[in-house]
Amino acid sequence: MIGVGDMVLLEPLSEETFIDNLQKRFSHNEIYTYIGSVVISMNPYRSLPIYTADKVEEYRNRNFYELSPHIYALSDEAYRSLRDQDKDQCILITGESGAGKTEASKLVMSYVAAVCGKGHEVNKVKEQLLQSNPVLEAFGNAKTVRNDNSSRFGKYMDIEFDFKGDPLGGVISNYLLEKSRVVKQPRGERNFHIFYQLLSGASEDMLKKLKLGRDFSKYNYLSLDSATVNGLDDAANFRTVRNAMQIVGFLEDEVQSVLELVAAVLKLGNIEFKPESRANGFDESRVKDKNDLKEMCELLGIEQLVLERAFSFRTVEAKMEKVSTTLNVAQAKTKARKKVMGVLDIYGFEIFEDNSFEQFIINYCNEKLQQIFIELTLREEQEEYVREGIEWTNIEYFNNAIICELIENNQNGILAMLDEECLRPGTVTDETFLDKLNTVCAEHQHFESRLSKNSKFLTDHSLPHNCFRIQHYAGKVLYQVEGFVDKNNDLLYRDLSQAMYKANHSLMKLLFPEGNPAKVNLKRPPTAGFQFKASVGTLMRNLQTKNPNYIRCIKPNDKKAAQVFSESLVSHQVRYLGLMENVRVRRAGYAFRQAYEPCLERYKMLCKQTWPHWKDLARKGVEVLLKDLKVPEEEFSYGRSKIFIRNPRTLFFLEERRRQC
Ligand code: ADP
Ligand code: MG
Repeated sequence: MIGVGDMVLLEPLSEETFIDNLQKRFSHNEIYTYIGSVVISMNPYRSLPIYTADKVEEYRNRNFYELSPHIYALSDEAYRSLRDQDKDQCILITGESGAGKTEASKLVMSYVAAVCGKGHEVNKVKEQLLQSNPVLEAFGNAKTVRNDNSSRFGKYMDIEFDFKGDPLGGVISNYLLEKSRVVKQPRGERNFHIFYQLLSGASEDMLKKLKLGRDFSKYNYLSLDSATVNGLDDAANFRTVRNAMQIVGFLEDEVQSVLELVAAVLKLGNIEFKPESRANGFDESRVKDKNDLKEMCELLGIEQLVLERAFSFRTVEAKMEKVSTTLNVAQAKTKARKKVMGVLDIYGFEIFEDNSFEQFIINYCNEKLQQIFIELTLREEQEEYVREGIEWTNIEYFNNAIICELIENNQNGILAMLDEECLRPGTVTDETFLDKLNTVCAEHQHFESRLSKNSKFLTDHSLPHNCFRIQHYAGKVLYQVEGFVDKNNDLLYRDLSQAMYKANHSLMKLLFPEGNPAKVNLKRPPTAGFQFKASVGTLMRNLQTKNPNYIRCIKPNDKKAAQVFSESLVSHQVRYLGLMENVRVRRAGYAFRQAYEPCLERYKMLCKQTWPHWKDLARKGVEVLLKDLKVPEEEFSYGRSKIFIRNPRTLFFLEERRRQC
């Protein structure tokens, strides 16, 4: 074993030894390391020969500790526990952009696909599950500075299984799709893959039907400086995506409808407006060149006048609101209870130079995930202790509930205050929001300081202009309020949704149900913050019912390069992923536990009475052995089926003696 395979056993434990251990293992291509049952995954940025069919066989039906750390070990454990013990599972994958989350989620899915049933129907479902990835990636991934295939949305997929453990289908939910990318991309980045794929890969005939040309530069929404990416074959990927859409279950005319929308978005981007003075002294915006508008309307079956009026009457922004929705891969075929494995691939804690609404929301989500982590880890520990008949000792840990409260409390949480501000009549700006925040949180803090000194809203007078700061569990983050109000409002004017609803295009209609005049709802639609809070709430309730498995992804360098380990970059991530806290929670009770049989098998040579054959119960043997070795009694607890070891040093002592044998 290179370095220490499980950080729980690292001695002494510090951030330095932690990172040293990662580096040592990484330099030997050991990209996986455990924290108990948590898997840390370092992105190797090259293909390693560790995902072969042989590897799958090697990890199949084996215990976690028997082999060197691997994502397959976690996948196997989760799948077996689902199949044999009927426990729903979730796999929580976090890490920053480019750390390998999406690849990890695919590895888990392909492992499960490899080890579950093999029938004709089952294979079809498996294929659908796996092929959902290229479809989602075409519409939700883009080349960014950090990652050539960066997911611009969080993804949660429930894979459903029957009683035998064969897959039935899946349900996918998306979070926080970066919609603004359709309209504008940062320097050196691209729009979503599908636009380039369509223009590069579609036949002449199809392009003609869609009223498109091949030339990227003809479209305002497709940035010019980075339109082609090395190593990315847009045309070939287009064929993959079309094929995947078909496998997933799109009918031919549905694929056509989707592509019509993609084309319409490109046309929309080319529509320009000009101001036109009106008799009443106000300017009204008018469409400059009507050809793109005309073609867009033809594609979508919208009457040109209707759309033009909708644009002109309230033109503030012309952006598509929602391009994705829950995708139901397959309908379950049985009424029997389904077993479920959820896979969550979502941004980790983000801290940039400029942190805005998006980071705030993402970090809020990570606080919630941390809370679940603590809750579930402790619950799992507690349950195991009960099962094993071991006395529960209280564990000291930092409970981040107070930070979640600060953000999500219905009365005076930051999100509630933002909503209140967004809905308030009168002049609302980011500054008025910040004022409110400072007043209320300062009061709250004052009130709270009498109860505890732990307020997480940090006010001090050295803060830069227009900022507030939060002490997150993973560190302090400074947020710029600029844009909070607009982004939270996320308004699409009714005129536009009604125009879209009038389209003679069934998919378009489906995407703008709020435009249905029969269902005029004068209440304003919920804010972005409100919606996100609600979906995080649903997600958390869902995760809470499942047995959690964690994969923490780390990016070794910023150059997308193999074999380069940037210590500062890694330690930054270790901190923001809360990994040290992970180790502490895992070590708080018993650092290590093992069933009696394998334990005796491993150490029986250390004691004359147990070597070479022990005829009595394994548990008895372990007792005899530990007494003989004079290990202090408080170091152990004897559970029903397992021995519990409190301190990693004890395990090292045993391992050391074993080596000397
Ligand atoms: P994230 O989803 O965290 O942003 P990705 O999963 O898209 O990151 O990974 C970024 C890139 O890193 C991938 O396109 C791939 O080139 C490389 N990569 C990630 N994980 C692995 C792995 N296990 N083996 C080889 N390459 C990987
Ligand atoms: Mg990703």
